[in-house]
Amino acid sequence: MTPSLIRDHRSDLPDDAPVVVLFRWSAGASGARAAALDRQTGGAILRACTAARGDGAAGTVVDVLAPPGLAARRVIVLSLGAPEALTANGAVLAGAALAGHLEHVGETAAALLAEAFDDSPIAPGDLVANLLLGMRLRNYRFAMRPKAVLHHDLSLTLVADAVDPAPLHRAAAIAEGVTLARSLVNLPASHLNPDTFADHLGPLRDAGIAVEVLDPADLERLGMQAILAVGNGSDRKPRVIVLTWAGGPGAPLALVGKGVCFDAGGLAIKTGPQMFGMKGDMGGAAAVIGTMLALARQKAQVPVVGVLGVAENMLSGASYKPGDVVTTMSGRTVEVFDTDCEGRMVLADVLHYAATRFAPRAIVDLATLTYSVMRGLGHVFAGLFATHDPLAQGLLAAGEATGERFWRLPLDPAYDESLRSAIADLRQHGRDLEDGDAPVAAAFLRHFAEGRPWVHLDIAGKELIDADRPLARAGGQGFGVRLLEEWITGLGPGLTRL
Ligand code: MN
Ligand code: MN
Repeated sequence: MTPSLIRDHRSDLPDDAPVVVLFRWSAGASGARAAALDRQTGGAILRACTAARGDGAAGTVVDVLAPPGLAARRVIVLSLGAPEALTANGAVLAGAALAGHLEHVGETAAALLAEAFDDSPIAPGDLVANLLLGMRLRNYRFAMRPKAVLHHDLSLTLVADAVDPAPLHRAAAIAEGVTLARSLVNLPASHLNPDTFADHLGPLRDAGIAVEVLDPADLERLGMQAILAVGNGSDRKPRVIVLTWAGGPGAPLALVGKGVCFDAGGLAIKTGPQMFGMKGDMGGAAAVIGTMLALARQKAQVPVVGVLGVAENMLSGASYKPGDVVTTMSGRTVEVFDTDCEGRMVLADVLHYAATRFAPRAIVDLATLTYSVMRGLGHVFAGLFATHDPLAQGLLAAGEATGERFWRLPLDPAYDESLRSAIADLRQHGRDLEDGDAPVAAAFLRHFAEGRPWVHLDIAGKELIDADRPLARAGGQGFGVRLLEEWITGLGPGLTRL
């Protein structure tokens, strides 16, 4: 588990707490104990809040230094905005703002006076849990410098009469899933590659998830010539990793992830700058892993399998080539053109494998797949393609709830026109890669879902960011974990609402 953020839980504020955090609504209302503290300071705390910029929007922090009449060296007041406007994700963002402030001022311990949440549209236990989730996500830092680690440890005393443990447990599980996904994306290909990938899945095994690794000989036996073709140019041959969380009976939900540990483009080699972030081309697989960890840590009553296509797209005398015709596991042949379109080759085999081995109730794949989705949607939305409207609606709603937002794009047989090959069943991509590649790729992949209810999430550009954001530092985002956890837990025990 992640280091425990809450060191202590008690019902009374210790008199000698050096750092105290209070919460208030933008209208100024705070709890009875916060009001008592304010009276002890002769009104200094609330007076300081009137100096805050803006209108006390959620996440606004006022830091009162050495308040008179108190032993504390600082009292921090975090505004939650207007009660009617607060959302679960707004609380996560407010918690992140608080963690960012504590780091900025160099405080590593604080007592959180969690009261006055009665006006909240969110249950008090959920509100506390969401605040703590935001603190954990903002606090995460990745480094590979064991001798000079810059880690901002936080240790909190939670002051509250009664705290519902269930949402706290869920928030900790989500944080662990997101941070594992981030770390996997952050790990360079020198450390995370097809040979070593499964070595990084210890937390999953620890949580009760079965981890099955299909090695290159297994892939040959199964006829997975598409993923094998992609990985053939690398000295580290592909693997398919199957994760099973047997949280309930019946056919599972299948999560499929693109796990290209490094994408040089193959013989259609990328330019240097295009290649810089390509250790993150396994961001889809990382999202599947993080989601399954978050579910297993909660002992979620749902059957879920994860299928990861793990490969490197490199250059050598054995690389697959433009003009090659590859027979996928499904038996369909694919005429290869741009070897940099390796993601859809990998997914062709793992989608077919997931669909035929598990007969899943639905398949959701996540892949850092196309530049075109980044060009079309920019940094705000990722692309969603779906064969079934209820699946799309559920995932779009979960995206809005968690801030991992998706825009639905067309999945239409008309795009198959671009995928005609004179000598094979399918062309690898359309004739003009600059022209609508994302929906063409989705049309290609649809053949390999084998008629199962299916959603394709094109998350290109969402896996790694180059500047700090409210919930995460620059680096791996763990994008997709919160989305999928929210959606799957919302389907209920046994996935009854799927
Ligand atoms: Mn590529
Ligand atoms: Mn790629």
